[in-house]
Amino acid sequence: MSDCLFCKIIAGEIPSKNVYDDEYTYAFEDIDPKAPTHVLVVPKRHIRGLKEAEAEDAEIIGRCHLAAAEIARQRNIENSYRTVLNVGPGSGQSVFHLHVHLLGGRGLKWPPG
Ligand code: 5GP
Ligand code: ZN
Repeated sequence: MSDCLFCKIIAGEIPSKNVYDDEYTYAFEDIDPKAPTHVLVVPKRHIRGLKEAEAEDAEIIGRCHLAAAEIARQRNIENSYRTVLNVGPGSGQSVFHLHVHLLGGRGLKWPPG
C-alpha cells in the first residue's frame, strides 16, 4: 500500500534497523522501544491487522511468529519474551499494517496493562 508506513519501511523508502529478513517477513527495531529487545515483525504483504486477516493469511501470520522466535533465540532471551499483536485503536494499534511486537530482555508482568 503506497501510504502505509510499514510498506515504506519494507521497501526501504523509510530507513529502519533491520534485524531479520526472509521471503515473507521483515523485522526491525521499534523506534520507541518498550524493552531492551523490542522488535517489530511484519509480513511483506500488506495486511491491515489481525481482525482483517483471512484464512489465506494464516501461514504468513505464523511465519511472523516463527521469525520472532528465531530472533529471540539469536538474542538468548528465548525463556522470557512476549509476542503481541495490538488489534484496533482501543488496544493501542497505531500502524495499520499487521505487526508482531517481540518484547524481551527484562521482566514481563502478567496480565499486561
Ligand atoms: P502499534 O501501536 O500499532 O501496535 O505499534 C506500532 C509500533 O510502531 C510502535 O511501537 C511504534 O513505536 C512503532 N513505530 C512507529 N513509527 C515507526 C517508525 O517510523 N519506525 C520504527 N522503527 N518504528 C515505528
Ligand atoms: Zn503496509
